[in-house]
Amino acid sequence: MDSNGETLVDFHTHSDCSDGVLPPAQLVERARGRGVDVLALTDHDTTAGLDAARAACETTGIRFVPGVELSATWRGQTIHLVGLQIDARQAGLQAHLARVLALRRTRLAEIGERLEKRARLPGRELAALAGQGTAPTRLNLARLLVERGFARETQEAFDRWLNRDTAGHVPPEWPTLDEAMAALRDNGAIAVVAHPHRYRASAGQLRELTAAFADRGGRALEASMAGMSPNDAERIASLCRRFKLHASMGSDFHDPAVPWNPLGRWLKLAAGLEPVTQLLDPTA
Ligand code: AMP
Ligand code: MN
Ligand code: MN
Ligand code: MN
Repeated sequence: MDSNGETLVDFHTHSDCSDGVLPPAQLVERARGRGVDVLALTDHDTTAGLDAARAACETTGIRFVPGVELSATWRGQTIHLVGLQIDARQAGLQAHLARVLALRRTRLAEIGERLEKRARLPGRELAALAGQGTAPTRLNLARLLVERGFARETQEAFDRWLNRDTAGHVPPEWPTLDEAMAALRDNGAIAVVAHPHRYRASAGQLRELTAAFADRGGRALEASMAGMSPNDAERIASLCRRFKLHASMGSDFHDPAVPWNPLGRWLKLAAGLEPVTQLLDPTA
């Protein structure tokens, strides 16, 4: 709880098993310091940090929810899906993740090649270093580009070297929305659209994405995120109401040095919205 006695939850966080900075136990320790009551670890395309996070939550009294954030392609665009209350031991989910991790490694190596050839950066070396973690993302590489002085901050590293129309751009080949939703459904996970307000999509496209997601068994949208404007929040809230989806909330925390998305969000929501906590199994 925070100092006003409000319940704090966080259903979207990253550890150093993907592109977060903190090891799982340190992430949990930081969440405890902020008064978080319920915490999900949702690393990109890996479950490697879940056991350590669960153990740390057990010693600190935080309720733990095992999760994952899956990358998927919908109509040529990358979207992210959060799976909550996942069964990390299920073979189907692990097969899906193994496929995505292989794609991540291939993509990172190719980005390194391109940076080497087209931009004369030490791309191969940096890609090899960035690829040391369980689930390397472009953010791991962006941090190294900053460390080596090729950009002042990670956003600039993306803008100069990694995004579309730059030397290191490699289009991703994630599984489709259908495939990612099937993996979550077969797992029995609660499927959530991650940060729907951040996609470059018109109101109509976002409605179509939400409809496709709900059709495939999706249960919630992230409706309360750090950095959401009141206008964004109202757009997403009305999609929740229209498609009878629950509302999830999280920080998308990666790095304690980034001050604008601290761990923990209030559970309270706009009128007519039901929190995703209602879907959690009380015995799990
Ligand atoms: P990837 O999944 O390998 O494409 O890496 C994307 C990750 O980089 C996201 O999960 C974000 O955490 C991070 N990121 C940070 N800034 C940016 C940006 N400007 N564009 C894309 N990704 C970003
Ligand atoms: Mn990330
Ligand atoms: Mn994401
Ligand atoms: Mn995330």
